[in-house]
Amino acid sequence: MLRRELPLDVTGGRVIRVASGRIAPGPDDTPLQQAQPWPECVQPLAYWHDEPIALSVEEHGGESWPDGRQWLTRLPESWFPLIATALQVAAWLRDHRFCGRCGAPAARLDAEFAMHCHQCGHRNYPRISPCIITLVTHGDAMLLARSPRFPPGRYSTLAGFIEPGESAEEAVHREIHEEVGVSVGRIRYYRSQAWPFPHALMLGFFAEAASRRIRIDGIEIADAAWFHPKRLPQLPPPYSISRALIETHLAEVADGIVQRS
Ligand SMILES: [Zn+2]
Repeated sequence: MLRRELPLDVTGGRVIRVASGRIAPGPDDTPLQQAQPWPECVQPLAYWHDEPIALSVEEHGGESWPDGRQWLTRLPESWFPLIATALQVAAWLRDHRFCGRCGAPAARLDAEFAMHCHQCGHRNYPRISPCIITLVTHGDAMLLARSPRFPPGRYSTLAGFIEPGESAEEAVHREIHEEVGVSVGRIRYYRSQAWPFPHALMLGFFAEAASRRIRIDGIEIADAAWFHPKRLPQLPPPYSISRALIETHLAEVADGIVQRS
């Protein structure tokens, strides 16, 4: 279990080594390695089952280490918060070594996740980018789409970044209209999930389509179609909120909560 408290005044414990989104395997096939004491320059991260954990962000190497998605596939779901935290904090530390305001080198603070500029006083914190992710439904049917980047045959829910000044609900309507040309009526919040590729926070919604006609742009979306529960394509991985939205809808159809179309 992850405890979100920085292990300060601690000199050793376990360490997670991250390089460019890849995490080093430890001796027991988990991402944790013993380190007594911790190497210099590690970032205290959290407690994992009451054991202090530090993050080591490495510039070189790591080509043979599993990437974040591979770790999430191979580890039990209980590891998700630790893996997501390590990947997001590592990406932030790597990308914010200089002040974004004046360009001077930034220094890490110990008491919180923060990079401080001693020249101009600007401080920056881990970046979290909110996105909406939506399962569009029409009766029991689900509108799923595939991006050109997906593995062959896989379809998923629609997702996109929330723009400056926009509410999550407005983003749901806009993204669905942009990506598949569908207008939606009632929307319902589901739950959220950190998505560390590299620093998104996915806000999950269900949305009821007003019509079934699909118009795709062919760029962001390579294909989109309505799928019935008995004939599904290859679905996104089990640890994703996208899969949870789909499984929740399938369960509601099976329980008779959703009317068949
Ligand atoms: Zn500065």
